[in-house]
Amino acid sequence: MISKKYSKDRIRSRITDTKHDLQEIGEFGLIHRIRRGITSSDPALVQGIGDDVAVIEVGETATKALLVTTDILIEDIHFDLSWTDPSQLGRKALAVNLSDIASMGGIPKYFLISLGLPKNLSLSFISSFYRGLKKEAKRFRVELIGGDTSLSKKIVINICLLGEGEKKDLLFRRGARVGDDLFISGTPGDAALGLRILQKKGKIKGAEGLIKKHLSPCPRVELGQAIAKRHWATAMIDVSDGLLIDTSHLLQESGVGVRVWEDRIPLSRLYQKWIRFFSKDPFQLALSGGEDYELLFTAPPELRERISSLARSLRIPITRIGEILPIKEGLRIIKEDGKDYSPSRLGFEHFK
Ligand code: ADP
Ligand code: MG
Repeated sequence: MISKKYSKDRIRSRITDTKHDLQEIGEFGLIHRIRRGITSSDPALVQGIGDDVAVIEVGETATKALLVTTDILIEDIHFDLSWTDPSQLGRKALAVNLSDIASMGGIPKYFLISLGLPKNLSLSFISSFYRGLKKEAKRFRVELIGGDTSLSKKIVINICLLGEGEKKDLLFRRGARVGDDLFISGTPGDAALGLRILQKKGKIKGAEGLIKKHLSPCPRVELGQAIAKRHWATAMIDVSDGLLIDTSHLLQESGVGVRVWEDRIPLSRLYQKWIRFFSKDPFQLALSGGEDYELLFTAPPELRERISSLARSLRIPITRIGEILPIKEGLRIIKEDGKDYSPSRLGFEHFK
């Protein structure tokens, strides 16, 4: 008879391989491999794997598109219960999906939510979670239409959000052209610094604004739609993993390079006040920290003035931080003193 231990060891050795494991290729290497193995001949599929959402033509004239995106939040990976309020968690679970629809310039419509929950989780946690979720859904006029529920050791939250858009208006990661400007909305790094503060010091006074950016991000749905319907941008992505790593995704899909001026990265007043306690280099976290949920987009230089006035009318900071170059230039950062470098670490990546 095979002992229990022996069979468990056999199973473990089948699923672990220290020479060739996920750490070696990382999250994006894995997605690249999956994508390579998928081909589609469906003419209605405008965009499959490789952008913030999947895009499918619908309707007889095929002028409209269905948008589909999904994002997962896992306890102790994406959130820590010691400082997470369940209502904020409900809002954030939806917000991170709304941000992907925002990056296409789409209109979010319906969502399904699947939950993995431990059996000792209090009912008040669930009620509060759904209160936050419903509040966010009302604010962005999206409706909960279903989901799935299962027992789990840790809390797992997965939302699948559906949206729609005029096919001609949608913005993809591909589309950036040499000579375009690169813009970012908001002030990158705030959410990542908020998380650092929570991890090191907890919810301390004076840092609430940064902590809120991490716990309760605001997706730029209105901004995404405003840019898309005016046809001002050539490419757009939302910044979820970090400014540089998401810039690199836009570059890869567009087949271009970029020059980013470090001293033009807009840093919030609070960020400037707190970053001193965490890093000697004030820009490093703004460039590589994740969860900003801001929009990063490219546009031809002749639209600069119009983009600035849109920013003023929506009261959202939009800053020109770089310019698109030929692909051979790669991703270059220009420091204040004029020296440039290619960063070795771009940002957050699972498994790495
Ligand atoms: P985002 O950060 O905008 O959510 P991701 O980096 O998670 O985007 O995903 C990039 C692309 O890869 C998307 O098209 C997404 O749907 C796809 N993708 C991610 N994980 C998987 C997976 N396990 N299998 C198939 N496609 C995936
Ligand atoms: Mg995205």
